[in-house]
Order: sequence, then structure tokens, then C-alpha cells
Amino acid sequence: MDWLKTGWKHVWLPYAQMQTAPMPLPVVRTQGAEIHLSDGRVLIDGIASWWTACHGYNHPHIAEAVAGQLQTMPHVMFGGLAHQPAYRLATRLAAMMPGSLNRVFFTDSGSVAVEVAIKIAVQSRLNKGERGRTKILGFTGGYHGDTLGTMAICDPEEGMHSMFTGLLPEHPVIPLPRDAASTAAFDAFMAANAKTLAAIIIEPLVQGAGGMVLHPPEVLQHLRKAATHYGLTLIFDEIFTGFGRTGTMFAFEQAGVVPDIITLSKALTGGTVPLAVTIATDELFADFLSDSANTALMHGPTYMANAIGCAAANASLDLFETEPRLQQAAAIAVQLGAELEPCRSLPGVKDVRVLGAIGVVELQRITNPAALRSKLVEQGVWIRPFRNIIYLTPALTITPGELTRLTGAIRAVLTAG
Ligand SMILES: *Cc1c(COP(=O)(O)O)cnc(C)c1O
Repeated sequence: MDWLKTGWKHVWLPYAQMQTAPMPLPVVRTQGAEIHLSDGRVLIDGIASWWTACHGYNHPHIAEAVAGQLQTMPHVMFGGLAHQPAYRLATRLAAMMPGSLNRVFFTDSGSVAVEVAIKIAVQSRLNKGERGRTKILGFTGGYHGDTLGTMAICDPEEGMHSMFTGLLPEHPVIPLPRDAASTAAFDAFMAANAKTLAAIIIEPLVQGAGGMVLHPPEVLQHLRKAATHYGLTLIFDEIFTGFGRTGTMFAFEQAGVVPDIITLSKALTGGTVPLAVTIATDELFADFLSDSANTALMHGPTYMANAIGCAAANASLDLFETEPRLQQAAAIAVQLGAELEPCRSLPGVKDVRVLGAIGVVELQRITNPAALRSKLVEQGVWIRPFRNIIYLTPALTITPGELTRLTGAIRAVLTAG
């Protein structure tokens, strides 16, 4: 493992205190739900590499599409040049969306897709001559990315708003309207402040990075009503929830609510190539049309609509059409419920919850997350507890036997204490 020891002096890991960070596990190969380590151990992946690998690793259909695209045309700039993989993907995504969600803007990461959503929401007002509507309403427990603009609409504690005061734009972040008291507070906030707002942003049905916290569809219906009433853009950040994770193709379907903008990334390419999209309504798109260059959307990442990424995403959509992903998600939900529910009576467990292919065991606290992670690795599984939760978001293609290994490992470490 020469590369590990040498490279360790040169890499800077995500979300890590590098003074105490344990050495990461060297991986040499992946297959299906398996992660193969250099020492020959094989771990069952419980989180599909940060929720991306929805078809399992190394799916031959995506591999073939990526390899073919690499041979014919890895990338061309999106300004002034067009290619079929991107235009076809935009057409297919628009066809999957309800209402007039018809315009697809390509970027290369989820955070940037959210940045673009914010720019669209704010500039659409400015283009119409409406000044002073530059704030985005976010929610406690929300997560929308790590760039400065998106940090400002994350949960204030997680987004470290106080540490970065003066650097971050200031946006209101309030509790979700999920019960009588918080709904009254939300309504009062809107009555007083809606005229300063351009948009409301929410991760529909589940706040992922904030601790896999669920909320009922009624919350989304309330937000839709408020946004429509006050003329605000409603942004659904489905970067985590999109592509079957919550049991439906998109989370908004379960609420019967249509947003004005939707952001997608994580599972978009089936866990192969970085790619993200911001999809806006025809009405928002029309706000940018005029005889002046000044009303155009000024954004364009260098690798915008990368052809390999678009080929991978098209192949991933093929698999959703030809393979029973939503049935698999439903079966995972049933099995997660049956096999995680017994955790409820184990010491230190506060809650057990399941939504689609998301299973969560919430503990009173996790005092030593690193130790817990290595105990799970000893059980032959790759699961990354954070905050006070142990969660599973496996590939939708995981076998029942592999899923039992994951839930069994969680029960085993909790029983051992
Ligand atoms: C992961 C995530 C993001 C950020 O995506 P990146 O690709 O990491 O920039 C934004 N919103 C949600 C809901 C996410 O889960």
C-alpha cells in the first residue's frame, strides 16, 4: 500500500479533523453491493457511496454507455456546440417531470445545481423589475450543499453560519411547519417577511444530511400553498430523494405537489460520473427572455453537460425503465421495517424509521463514531453513522441476503453495546 502511505501526506479528506482522522480503507474494486478492500476483505455497502450507486456498482449497461461515449466524444463545450447525450437527457428528464417543469440546466455537482436554482429564483424577480426579493427561506435541519451560497440556506449550526458571519449571504432559516405551533410560526413569518423572499427551498419528505428526518406530505402541501399565495418560487431539492430512494421515482409524487424548480444529482448517473441538473418551469424560463443580454442566466460550468456524464445518466434512466427499481425499493422498505424494528428495544435506541429504501436507527447519542464505524467494518459492512444515527441507503439492487447482513450488523453492534 505504498500509494496510501505516500498519498496520505497529500490528501485532505471530507468533513474530517485531519489530526485525528483514521486512515481510510483502501478499496481496489467494487461489484454490485460489494466493496473489495486491498487486504481481500469484502464489505457489503449500506449507503451506496453517499446515495449515488442506485443500480449497484459496475452495472454493465452503464459501463458500456460510458465506455462507448469515451471512445466517440468524451466532452465538448456546451456553449455553441450541441451533443445528443445531453439533448436526449434533457428531453427525457422533462418528460418525467409534471406540470411545466421543462427546462434543464446542467451542472457538475449538487451544490452548484442548488446555486443555479437560487440564481434563477432571484434573477427572475430582478428581470421583472421587482427589487428587494433576494432572500431564500430554508429550514432547520436542511442541507443543500457545501458552497458558500448553499451553506447560507443550510441549518445554521451545520452550515456554521455564525463562524462565517460577514462572508455568507444571510437568509432566514426557520423550523418546518410540521405541527400546529410551527405552522402558526411559519404563517406569521410569511405574513411579515414574504415580500423579502424570492423562494422557499426544501428537501421533500426527508432531510437527508440533517439526520434522515422525515416529514409528512402535508408539510409540502402547506409550503406549496404559501408559495403560490405569496408568489414565491418553490424549490424541491431532490438531490438525495430523487430516483426511487423514497419509494417513488421522485419524493414530490407522494405529496401530489409540483415545485417550480427541482434539483437532481446524486443517483442521476447511477453513481458513476459527477452530473447535476436544475429543472425549471416554462414560466421561470420565460422570465429570462428579452431583447437584452442583461436578463440572461449568466452561468456555465466548464464541464457543463459532460457527454460521458449524460451518457451515464441516459443509461441509468434506461435501467429505471427496463428493471423493476421501484418494486425493489418497495421490497427493501418492507425488509428494512421488519429487520430494523427489533432495534427499538435495544439499549440507547431512540427511534427506528423507514421510508422507501432508507432505514434509520436513531440513538440517544453516538459518543465515538469512529469506533462504531470500525465495529461495523468488523461485521463486514460499510455503514457510516453520523450525528446520532445509523442509517442504510443501499443500492436498490441489493439482494435480500445482503440486506440482512447490513441490518444484522447494526443489531449486532447495538446489542454488544
Ligand atoms: C448531497 C446533497 C447536496 C450537495 O450535492 P454535492 O454534489 O455534494 O454538491 C445538495 N442537496 C442535497 C439534498 C444533498 O443531499
